[in-house]
Amino acid sequence: MFLKKEKPEFEMVLVRKWGDGKLKSRLWDIKFVTIKSSKRRMTFMDDDNRIKLADLISKLPQEAVDALYKAAASLLGTASNKDNPACPYCGGHHVVKNGHKCGKQEYLCRQCGKTFVSTTHTLMAHSHQPKQVWEAVLMDTLAGDAIDYSAKQLEVSHDCVFYMRHKILLGLHGLLEETGVCLGGVSELDETFVLDSYKGGSLPEDAARPARRHGAKAQKRGISDEYVCICTGVERKGDAIAGSINRAKPSSRELGKMFKGHIKEGTLVLCDGLKSYLALEKDTGCSVKDVTKERSGKFFNLNTVNNFHSFIKSRYKFYRGVATKYLNRYNDLFSIAYRQAREKAGQLCNQLLEVSSINRNYTNRDVKMRGLLDI
Ligand SMILES: [Zn+2]
Repeated sequence: MFLKKEKPEFEMVLVRKWGDGKLKSRLWDIKFVTIKSSKRRMTFMDDDNRIKLADLISKLPQEAVDALYKAAASLLGTASNKDNPACPYCGGHHVVKNGHKCGKQEYLCRQCGKTFVSTTHTLMAHSHQPKQVWEAVLMDTLAGDAIDYSAKQLEVSHDCVFYMRHKILLGLHGLLEETGVCLGGVSELDETFVLDSYKGGSLPEDAARPARRHGAKAQKRGISDEYVCICTGVERKGDAIAGSINRAKPSSRELGKMFKGHIKEGTLVLCDGLKSYLALEKDTGCSVKDVTKERSGKFFNLNTVNNFHSFIKSRYKFYRGVATKYLNRYNDLFSIAYRQAREKAGQLCNQLLEVSSINRNYTNRDVKMRGLLDI
C-alpha cells in the first residue's frame, strides 16, 4: 500500500479508530494495526505494541511515514475533503467535517450552509442500527431469506428487521421508478397466480373465504378469487418486471397501466394468446405475437417468463406467502433479484445506504401506508 510499489516491505491491513474523539496524535488513535511484511505478520493492539510500532515507524524513511499517515487517515475516515460526500441538499462538493452528532459524522456544506450526517436521506436515517446490519438485511432480502432468519442471525428483533426489510423494499421500488425498467428486443409477457394472504393480520370480515392454515391449498379448484394475479414481463437476456393489479386475468386497460413506459417501441412481445395483450401494440408501439399460433416453438415460446414464474413461486413458497397488501413491494424485489442479484448487491448498497440528493428516508408510517395493494 505504501513504500515501494513493486515490492511492499510493509502493508497496512487493518486500522481501527480508538474511540470516537478527534485525532489527537494521529498515530495513537490507531486501535490496532496489522503489519504484514514478507517475513512476518505483526499485530499491534496494546500500549506495548504501540511503542514497538512507533519504534518501527520511526525507522522508516520520511516518505514512507507520510504514506502511512495518509493510508491511516483514509482508513480512519479523516482524509481530505475529497472523500467527504457531496451535499445532499445542493449537490455541492465544498463539504467539511463538522464534529459528530448522535455518534455519526456530521458534515457542513460551505456552499449552502446546511449540515448533514452520514445517514441523511438514506434508508438508515434515524435508525439505531449500524450500517453493517443494514447491509446484512439488504443481502438477506436479495437472497430471499425470511425476516426471522435475519433477526436471529443479527440478534435484532423481528419487528426491527421487518421495518428495515420494508424500508429496503420501498427503496428498491424508488430505484425501479428512477431507472424505469424497459423491456426491449424480444420480451415475453405472461401472468402467474399466487394464493392471497392476510399474513401478519387477521382476515377481514368481507373476505371471500375462511382462514387458511400455513401451507394449505385453495378451497376452490382453478383460478378463483383466492388468487392474486402477478403480471410479468422478461426481456430475453434482459430485465424483468412484475406487478399485481387485480385478482383475475388482466384486462387490456390493466396491462396498459402496468406496462406503459416499460416496453420500448419496436419490441417483439410474445404472449400466450390472452387478447388483452394486443392492446399493448397501441399503448407502447410494440408488436405482439401469440406463441400458440406460431409453428416454431424453438423461438416462439415463453420459457424465459415461465422460468421467472418458477423463481417467484419458489420465493413465495419459501416465505410461506407474502401478505397480499405488500405483494407489489415483493414483486419489485422479485424483478430486481431475478437476475444477477449478487452482482447488483454492491451497487444497491451504495444507492440505498450512501448520502445522496434523493431522499430515501422512509418512516414506519410509510411502511404501513405506502404503495399497498388493495384488492
Ligand atoms: Zn449544500
